[in-house]
Parts: sequence; structure tokens; C-alpha cells
Amino acid sequence: MIRIGEIPRGGLLLSSEPVILSDATIPEQKVVYLLKPRGFCAGVVRAIEIVELALDLYGPPIYVRKEIVHNRHVVEKLTARGAIFVDETEDVPPGACVVFSAHGVSPAVRDEARRRNLRVIDATCPLVTKVHLEAVRFARLGFTIVLIGHPEHDEVIGTLGEAPQQTRVVSSAEQVDQLEVPDPASVAYLTQTTLSLDETRHIIDRLRERFPLIQGPPAQDICYATQNRQEAVKAVAPHSDLLLVVGSDNSSNARRLVEVSECLSVPARLVDDASEVDPAWLSPAQRVAVTAGASTPEYLVQDLIAHLNRQRFDRVEEVELAQEDVRFALPPELAG
Ligand code: SF4
Repeated sequence: MIRIGEIPRGGLLLSSEPVILSDATIPEQKVVYLLKPRGFCAGVVRAIEIVELALDLYGPPIYVRKEIVHNRHVVEKLTARGAIFVDETEDVPPGACVVFSAHGVSPAVRDEARRRNLRVIDATCPLVTKVHLEAVRFARLGFTIVLIGHPEHDEVIGTLGEAPQQTRVVSSAEQVDQLEVPDPASVAYLTQTTLSLDETRHIIDRLRERFPLIQGPPAQDICYATQNRQEAVKAVAPHSDLLLVVGSDNSSNARRLVEVSECLSVPARLVDDASEVDPAWLSPAQRVAVTAGASTPEYLVQDLIAHLNRQRFDRVEEVELAQEDVRFALPPELAG
């Protein structure tokens, strides 16, 4: 059972008298369940603010290595303000100002920036930095590190760079079976911050079977924002006919929200914005749940709600599963 408050049309305030969401109360009119928490996490808010402040303080152009966060709309807006997104540090002119993205970078990238005499502002999310520090600690202790994550993701590439010789990346339980390590008694695992909670648990279980002495991080690496958004989908998707996730295709945490819903046999679609919604998805649906990845701005969610309103989804109910009040401090050079 989920306690929800009905939202008056045109407003997004929770009612003081929550109602109970259950399959016994399937609404007669088309309804949108708007999940909360959704959208921006503290690491994304901080990263975008860093680029905006750098533009204000130093003036354009400000170079940003990789997408500051994985959202097309955010990148386009910052580009319009004078940010230049590059793939590698070598693409930044010597002496210029470069921002490292929220996903973090390897020590080799930091070294290259120093060689090129770049002014570096680091927008790495502190929760990603925590994983880097764990990698450094395990590496110094001589452990083989099993990094659970997607090998092509910027965050995994950055963490791997802390101890490339000692780190193996796995993204499935099957890959655990193929691991070869020099000393099975000296193995540790870490994870990408934006993985599926359930899939990761499954992989860790397999690791514990293979390496009973394996060590892990003191607290799990999957971050609070990833966890809260997935838990909200798990709670509400079973009461819905369709889940719409607002987010870009390269956003790991947004894609995981789609997968979590699909695992519950509830169809889910990832859309960058309302224009990508196919009317054919909506016609058989009476109850549409809406959420957004951690790098998705709220105005895109509101645009989608307005679009759904025009498709006769008149009722919008916000379902709040957890409260978030996390904020991260700015880097000292911008803290003012
Ligand atoms: Fe940080 Fe988590 Fe947001 Fe990634 S999703 S930027 S780890 S808070």
C-alpha cells in the first residue's frame, strides 16, 4: 500500500489527507502517478551550478570534459551560455579553464590537465569520489578490486583509472564465474553508483560464493538518489499500466528505472522529453506513472505532465516515497 495525496489540477502540492493506492482503487478517469523523489540529485545540482558559476566568474568559454551530466537538454542549455564540451583534456587549449564532469576522472586525466597548465574545476560528485578513495585504499592493501559496473560508462572508466592493473570490471554474474585473480583471499568489490540494486545484489552474492573472504565498501556505493528513484518505481509500477521515465539514453540511472519496471512486467519507456511520447503507448493505459532520472531537469517533467493532461490524463497524483534534503558544498574556488 502506498499513501498518496491527490494533487489539484495545476498544482503539485501534496494533500494533507493522503489516500491509499492499491489495485482495489483503480481510478475511473485516466490518472498520472507522479513519483517523488524524481529528477535532479544533489551531485547533478552541484555540477550544473559549478559550470554556471564558472561562466559567471571567468566568462565564456568554459571547457567541460565530457557531458557535465548525462542529459541532452542540460548540455544544450550550457552550450548556449558558452560552455564547450570536449571529449578529452587534449582538446582544451593550454591555460584554459576546464570542468571535470560529475562522473569523475582518472588520475591520468588530472596529470594531463596539469601538463597542459589548465585551470581545473572539479565537479565530480562527492559520492563518486568516495568510490575512488575506496579503490585507492584497497589497491594500497594489495587487493584485486572487482568493480561492478558498465565498462563503457564515464564513471567506471574514471574509477578503473585509480588502479588499472589491480581492477577487473564485471557487469553480470556470469562474468564473475570467469574472473581470474592472483589471490582469492585478497579480493574486494566496489560498484558504480547508478546500478540496479537488485542486479548488483545478485552479482555480489555470486562474488561471495566464489570469494568467501571478499571485502566490500563500508557502506554500499549505489547512491541514495539511485536507490530512492528505483524504490519509488518498485512501489508504484505494479499499480500502473505504463511507466514513463524522462531522461537521456546515455543516463545510466534513468535506464535502470526502465529496467526495474520491466522486471516487474510493467512496460516502461525512456523519453528525452514529451515530444518523444508515442500516442499509441497511451491509448491502452488508464494509469501512467511518471518519473525522471537524476540528471533530468524538472521543467521536462512538467512539460510531460502538461502533454498528458492534453491526452485526457486529467488527474495527477504525486506519490512521495522518500524525502531528500541532500546538498553538497561547492569547490572552494567557487564557494564565495
Ligand atoms: Fe552523485 Fe548519485 Fe547523483 Fe551520481 S546519481 S551525481 S552518484 S548523487
